[in-house]
Amino acid sequence: FRVLALESSADDTCAAVVDASRRIWSNVVCRQNRLHEKTSGIHPLVALRAHQRNMPGAVRKALHDAKLEMADIDGVAFTRGPGITGCLTVASNAAKTLAAANNKPIVGVHHMQAHALTAHLTSSSPPSFPFLTLLVSGGHTMIVLATSLVDFRVLATTVDRSVGSTIDRVVTLLQIKWADLGPGPGLERYCAEPVADEGALENEPPITMSGKLSFSYTGLHSWVERTIHAAGGLDNVKKRAVARAFQNAAFAHLEEKLLLALKWCRNNDHPVRHVVVSGGVASNSLLRQRLKTCLSQSIYDPVDLVFPDPLLCTDNAVMIAWASMHRFLARDYDDYSIETLPTWSLEDLKNPPDPPAV
Ligand code: ATP
Ligand code: FE
Repeated sequence: FRVLALESSADDTCAAVVDASRRIWSNVVCRQNRLHEKTSGIHPLVALRAHQRNMPGAVRKALHDAKLEMADIDGVAFTRGPGITGCLTVASNAAKTLAAANNKPIVGVHHMQAHALTAHLTSSSPPSFPFLTLLVSGGHTMIVLATSLVDFRVLATTVDRSVGSTIDRVVTLLQIKWADLGPGPGLERYCAEPVADEGALENEPPITMSGKLSFSYTGLHSWVERTIHAAGGLDNVKKRAVARAFQNAAFAHLEEKLLLALKWCRNNDHPVRHVVVSGGVASNSLLRQRLKTCLSQSIYDPVDLVFPDPLLCTDNAVMIAWASMHRFLARDYDDYSIETLPTWSLEDLKNPPDPPAV
């Protein structure tokens, strides 16, 4: 069974073809970084217009790269939600129209379920259920217990901002140049550059929500603001010291909560063997290294850490195709009139909310 999938929930316009035997036939990602660097973040209307411009070309390229035509496609999947209201409709309308014109079934996919299941597509030994997943992206920071392909329990989420959006804001505050792939990779590259002078900080980053199964990132963001303000602007040495301390503190916060979640699993009789780390921030190599060290020293039962390929951690349509596969194979299709859901909890996969009232 071959699926053509489309994704446009945030800032990347994506199309891909994947089949039920886990073969990735094509993977097209049109990034909008250059547009959003000018506005220091995603502007919904700018993103919407870019999706509208890029989606036809992305679909054409996905088929072309796969050397396939619509006749060779068995189903069309798209991101139904959650995501930016207008942006979601681009992939959804394109998918529904393509499918209706070619008489193919459709499936609307939950974007975070797709991030969580990416490891099942790419890993040589797919994680067994139940597994824990740390989802760290632009819109979410969550630890989720997955007990089946469609049953997810959110153990921890952020009380304010996500780690990804905090990284993006701090990159702007510190005026760090974006890398080709965006602000997160820009911070990673900047912090990894070797320096002669390490620099010292008067105040260490705050530790927030200690001992609680909840994330919070506004305190860390304010610490960066305060540090810049107190110094009346930062010289290069200080700026790099702040960037590194911020990145380390942001990741230490993830580690603490992951250990608390493993403790919760042990105390509540959920024997997890795997921890899947996915979403854009999971492509960060320092985070990968830190989590490996942290879990290898943990007092809990050993777990295997699973990281999808960094290019499949950030947004892509391969993961959307894969997350739709079990539904296509079960002939559990959606109706062509299905609507997008900008807000949609991973816990409500089987009972999606009503679309927002107009
Ligand atoms: P969501 O998945 O929650 O809907 P999204 O789809 O916009 O949000 P993703 O593409 O999954 O988000 O992740 C984007 C986020 O990941 C951005 O905040 C980006 O800066 C961050 N990111 C990407 N690469 C890295 C990296 N190497 N280091 C740190 N952060 C990164
Ligand atoms: Fe995402």
